[in-house]
Amino acid sequence: MSEGAAKKEEKPRKFQAIKGTRDLLPPETALWNRDVVSKEMYSFLDNAVPRLVSLANAITDWPDPTRDEAEFSAYKNYVSNFIREYERAIADDELHSSSANKPALQGIKDSFNTLSGTSLKDDQSKQLARDCVRQIYLAMRIAELGDYLTLRPEATASVCRAYIEHGMQQLPQPVKLYYMGPMFRRERPQKGRYRQFYQIGAEVLGGSDAPAIDAEVIEMVMTFFDRLELQGVQLDINSIGDRNCRPKYIELLRAELLKVKDKLGPDSQRRIETNPLRVLDSKLESEQPIIATLPHIADHLCDDCKTHYAAVKHQLEMRGVIYRENWRLVRGLDYYMRTTFEITAQGLGSQNAVCGGGRYDGLVELLGGPPTKGIGFAIGEDRLILSLQESGKAPAQQGRNVYIAWMGERAHATAIRAAKDLRKAGFSVELPPVEQKFGKALGQADKLGAKYALILGDNEVSEGLWTLKTLADGSQAKYTEPDLLEHLRKQKAL
Ligand code: AMP
Repeated sequence: MSEGAAKKEEKPRKFQAIKGTRDLLPPETALWNRDVVSKEMYSFLDNAVPRLVSLANAITDWPDPTRDEAEFSAYKNYVSNFIREYERAIADDELHSSSANKPALQGIKDSFNTLSGTSLKDDQSKQLARDCVRQIYLAMRIAELGDYLTLRPEATASVCRAYIEHGMQQLPQPVKLYYMGPMFRRERPQKGRYRQFYQIGAEVLGGSDAPAIDAEVIEMVMTFFDRLELQGVQLDINSIGDRNCRPKYIELLRAELLKVKDKLGPDSQRRIETNPLRVLDSKLESEQPIIATLPHIADHLCDDCKTHYAAVKHQLEMRGVIYRENWRLVRGLDYYMRTTFEITAQGLGSQNAVCGGGRYDGLVELLGGPPTKGIGFAIGEDRLILSLQESGKAPAQQGRNVYIAWMGERAHATAIRAAKDLRKAGFSVELPPVEQKFGKALGQADKLGAKYALILGDNEVSEGLWTLKTLADGSQAKYTEPDLLEHLRKQKAL
């Protein structure tokens, strides 16, 4: 291994923005104005190093390198080339010395060393050679011959990564950030559950973990939903403890679940081992009576968590935020702690959560930053809109303000100018790209829900008087160009 490569291997893994992506942060943003790991993610190899990929394919697809000495020696040449290119790619920063590449390279080198001293002279040596070929095959399968990327399934981890990467711990704390954008999860699609969906989220990072922060964050979402007139809003809250008390509760839960294992479905049976908290999430009808008998975390919180939870509830009451305690509301990841909440709304069927959030004081540290308090939420925009539509609260689609019906070349030039002026004045304008008979144009204006049709023909242009038709009542009036703008402005203001 070259010296450069050896040095690189020692570097601790750093989480940073992917090449060619960037963070939009305050003050620049002013100009622009959760159990995710177990969910299936969209991952792929980006920017693969072609010569490594073709060497690796040749090596792993080789039918039987131990068939005769000639093939055996050709195979060894390929592996030795691969090792040389692999090390060079890492040294040149073409490849990361990632947690997968390090053991892969070591495995390939170890097996290659054994292979170099092996011939095919007897059955025993042949067997040894075959074992090495198999080891090399396996090691190559875990090698990452490019950048291993995952489409983000949520954005909290990205926000924490940005907080660290941009040294935001130096800013006055806490730092309050928001985001919106598409997320990707390979879930079974159904109403309100998509593989590409949109989230609007906010995070409060750094400073204290005062319960007032938790309550204010929740109050903010509830106020937002209230302004949107979202119907049937229900806020559920819970505390899931911290690293002192939660592990003990999880063990207790696991022990209780083991006693009733036979009565649980296969998913919950698996979760007893992997993540017993997630059993509480189960919607399976047959499991409900069993879950009802399980111990509640509220009875097993440590004193600090108990005090924090009581204070969050008190703070919510002070703000007039109505909540329901739901002991089954959990988040599966270790870095979530204490406050968790979920907001549901009507008209969504089984996927009725429009917002999920919680406190995650351990996440920044987990990503390589300093110990940092954190709390945030994500609103599912698709579901929010669905719910608003179902309850008739979504704003009706707005038609155009003005449809310009023009005929003739001279009128076209005037129409283009009129469209420009009207758009500049803030009106939405439809300007047909080709000439239409007035009858057809007016029909089209109607279909688009336009409020007015501006009629521009030869007469209007030569007289300098433009005809404005109000489509709702069919009334018509003539205006000079400046009067027309003035009239429309006045109408708009009404
Ligand atoms: P989570 O990040 O899982 O806490 O989700 C936060 C919110 O995002 C949920 O309450 C949903 O409103 C929304 N959401 C999560 N997954 C999906 C999905 N697959 N399709 C649509 N919305 C989703």
